[in-house]
Parts: sequence; C-alpha cells; structure tokens
Amino acid sequence: MSEKIHIDPVLGEVTLRRSSRARRVSIRVHPVRGVVVTVPFLTPYARGVSFLESRRDWVKKVLERYQTRNADLPAGEDIESLRAQAKAILPPRLKTLADRYGFTYNRVTIKHNTSNWGSCSTKGNINLNLNLMRVARPLQDYILLHELTHLKHPNHGPKFHDELERLLAVHFSSPSEEESFQTFLPAVKASRAQYPYTHVLEKRLKQYLLV
Ligand SMILES: [Zn+2]
Repeated sequence: MSEKIHIDPVLGEVTLRRSSRARRVSIRVHPVRGVVVTVPFLTPYARGVSFLESRRDWVKKVLERYQTRNADLPAGEDIESLRAQAKAILPPRLKTLADRYGFTYNRVTIKHNTSNWGSCSTKGNINLNLNLMRVARPLQDYILLHELTHLKHPNHGPKFHDELERLLAVHFSSPSEEESFQTFLPAVKASRAQYPYTHVLEKRLKQYLLV
C-alpha cells in the first residue's frame, strides 16, 4: 500500500491511497481524518483525483453533515474573530517551531474549511485551519509539527510517523513546553500505542469537530 497527499482546491488535504486489495476507485469521508481516495494497485492516482472531482459535491455534503452534528458551532462573527486570532498567532508560532527544529517552508496561509486541521503542499506551502484557535496549545503544536514533518515526508508512511513521534517527544519534554503538556502526559505514559504522543494528541483532537 502506498499513499500520497493531494490538495483539492475546495476540500483541502485529501489522502490518495493505492491498495492491492482494492477492486475499484472509492472515496471514504471521515469526520476528522478527512477524505481518503483508494485506487486499485495498477491504477494511476490521477484516476482517483478525477473520480474525487466528479464526487466533490457529495464529499462536501458529507463533511457538512458532520459539521452540523457539532452542538456549539461558533456564529459567523466568531469565525471572523477566530480568523483574526489565527492570523496573529499561528504564523509566528509556525516560524518558531520551524526554526527550532530545522524546517524551511515556503508560505503559510490561514484557511477555513471543515475537512482538515492543516495541510502541506509539495511546494512547501502550509495551510492552517482557523479552528486551531479553539484547541489547547499542545494540540496546535501537534498540527504544526505534523505539517512541518510533511516537508520531509509528503505522505503518512512509517518514516513520517517515526519522525513526527520523535519530534513530539523532544518538543513536549523541552523546558518551555513541559508545563502546558502536563494534562496530556499521564495518558502518553500510560499509552501502549506504537506512537504514544501521536496517538494521545490525535485522540484529544477528535473531540473537536471542524466548524
Ligand atoms: Zn498529514
């Protein structure tokens, strides 16, 4: 099985997956993990992309249905205030983390969509969702580090996960971040997952729906 990230202009980050078990092109929409397009082994990814484009309205509708399940949707003006906060806070934070851990990205843009928390294009442009202003600092950093790791590994393969987990462990045990991570630490220590930091942070993030 192999994977590739595709940036759809409307839906944002979409995972393209090639599977030897798949018999036809299919799309799955997950409330938090987003959109996954699976193509059979010998099928070019481009076929998956054109299939996705032909079903874009449907995918968008499913994502919106997940969104309306969320009980406390911020009102329109709240979205604008989230956007202003996000623009002031997230780009400097991304710069700090990139400098600290040796990443170079091209451009950062604040986006508002209901399909992903962030994305990273092959040109090194990073998009961050203004919904990140609704979550705790360690969860913001988790997403920022996730997107920065994509600069080295443009997929969600084992090398990506090894690198991200190593980065999270270093980051959250550093003196400046330790304190804000206190509420997450017991769960990380108790976790028997292969990637405890990733596992715990991803799980906490799933308590939020993108609005
Ligand atoms: Zn990703």
